[in-house]
Amino acid sequence: MGLLTGKIALITGASKGIGRSIAIQYAKQGAQVAFTYLSSVEKGQALEKELSDLGVKAKGYRSDASVFTEAENLVNSVLTDFGGLDIVVNNAGITKDGLLMRMTEEQWDQVITVNLKSCFNLTKAAIKPMMKAKVGSIINITSVVGISGNAGQANYAASKAGMIGFTKSVALELGSRNIRCNAVAPGFIETEMTGELDPKVVEEWLKGIPLKRAGAADDVADAVVFLGSDMSRYISGQVLQVDGGMLT
Ligand code: NAP
Repeated sequence: MGLLTGKIALITGASKGIGRSIAIQYAKQGAQVAFTYLSSVEKGQALEKELSDLGVKAKGYRSDASVFTEAENLVNSVLTDFGGLDIVVNNAGITKDGLLMRMTEEQWDQVITVNLKSCFNLTKAAIKPMMKAKVGSIINITSVVGISGNAGQANYAASKAGMIGFTKSVALELGSRNIRCNAVAPGFIETEMTGELDPKVVEEWLKGIPLKRAGAADDVADAVVFLGSDMSRYISGQVLQVDGGMLT
């Protein structure tokens, strides 16, 4: 028996990075895994096979997290294919960094839409079946910069801070329906997203991490397993930092 045996999970943006690790750890813990991707079609299809090889039911859907109607279609497809929905992980996210002085309206809108509106889109669609079943765990992948702010990431930090306010509000609204909602705030995690950063910036970040290493995607995935499992049954409305002690 795994920690997630018998549960059906939907994870957005699982073709690579943290989302991919979450999907694999969920499958290893016995969950049935529905997941999405957008541009990385081949990687998405390969993941579906990798998860099925772990012995669980798994299916990937090409779905744009930022589009409201796609979220509703996605949840309907998952309900048809899997017969229920217990856990939603809002992980899909992008960066379009730049100092505010140079940030364009497009950079602002894209990041807010993909990171924050996506969270509204899928959560709104997913709570219908969860309310009916009187059970659910929603996990939003925010960031430590949503708590601290970060120069050069006003759009990203605002989107991640917005996710925290959203998380706490959903926890307050839906606790009485046995639906929990928490956020996970990773610090500096080695993925393609952080691979784009200037090595000098990375060096500075590493200096400030008490555990003296960057995080791995699995470090985040393990926290997401915990929040999806019944081990966290009395935890809701929280922001769990997975940052090696960086932000205290
Ligand atoms: P990543 O390696 O760039 O992966 C991002 C994932 O999101 C990809 O699977 C991508 O799918 C998907 N995605 C992007 N836009 C999408 C859309 N519109 N619809 C559906 N899927 C979409 O990034 P990551 O580092 O794993 O980050 C995952 C999450 O953790 C993000 O929310 C990020 O903000 C957060 N986070 C990361 C770090 C870090 O240090 N890496 C720190 C704090 C928070 P396709 O490639 O198929 O388009």
